Amino acid sequence: MNDNTAGRLPISIEFFPPKTPEGVEKLRGVRQQLYVLKPEFCSVTYGAGGSTQSGTLATVREIIAEGVAGAPHFSCIGASRDSIREQLAGFRTAGIRRIVALRGDLPSGYGGFGEFRYASDLVAFIRAETGDHFHIEVAAYPEVHPQARSPEADLKAFVTKVRAGASSAITQYFFNSDAFFRFVDDARKAGVEVPIVPGIMPITNSSQLIRFSEACGAEIPRWIRLRLESFGDDKASIQAFGLDVVSQLCEKLRAAGVPGIHFYAMNQATATIEICKRLGW
Ligand code: FAD
Repeated sequence: MNDNTAGRLPISIEFFPPKTPEGVEKLRGVRQQLYVLKPEFCSVTYGAGGSTQSGTLATVREIIAEGVAGAPHFSCIGASRDSIREQLAGFRTAGIRRIVALRGDLPSGYGGFGEFRYASDLVAFIRAETGDHFHIEVAAYPEVHPQARSPEADLKAFVTKVRAGASSAITQYFFNSDAFFRFVDDARKAGVEVPIVPGIMPITNSSQLIRFSEACGAEIPRWIRLRLESFGDDKASIQAFGLDVVSQLCEKLRAAGVPGIHFYAMNQATATIEICKRLGW
């Protein structure tokens, strides 16, 4: 589905599995709007906000039935080898060729790690079990994973994860492009050759963005936070400002030669489409 005309980058789009029949219906409409952008693939989160693997798989199946490559996010924390093996078999049966492989986070109060400690263990297991069947995406953190012992330890963990068999990486979202460029430079120096695709979060809602960013360790630069706060409940101003900031960030990344852009669309179409329009895609 990729339309690599001059200046246009391959894009991918991330959704989360809706929890209600209305949400499922709404997402179908949102996807049809977003397919105008010809995404290379659409991924569906798992576990975030209590979503289940069956919700993820059901959404991915719909995406594939719509003629677009669908990629489930797949986390290993708390899982056994047998359960992972069984889910991989289900993915193959569903015609899935791409997986976003993650450690994930333990729900609070949950006891142990299970049989996989890190995402690198999952990546190695998928490769050992299924060879080259899946394109494996892994997560990268230009502003450092919140639980990392140090930036150096986090980079080392990323390199290990890629060496375990990752095909490419998608970053946590960021608004500071220098953090991304530095991370890519460091990864290249450490021998990582796979594509590292920036994850981009359109700004549409300031309280939600601030909440997410605190949880996942993405930094909202002071000037962006202050501007967002100054708009109060004025949604139109937040959205207009967000479009400017995020379109400029994408333009800067494009000019620097990134291999693609992954949009955290949050099950909404308008902002992602508007950003791509401004970029002339
Ligand atoms: P890992 O790569 O295993 O890293 C986790 C931590 O362990 C890091 O601090 C790392 O430095 C450290 N570490 C790794 N290996 C080692 C080692 N060998 N020795 C010592 N330390 C090590 N969450 C969801 O719940 N659902 C989703 O669908 C989801 N999708 C995501 C998609 C993307 C693109 C991104 C960037 C994140 C996503 N997340 C999702 C969040 C993710 O699950 C969390 O950030 C989680 O805490 C870490 O997962 P990981 O795969 O990056 O873990």
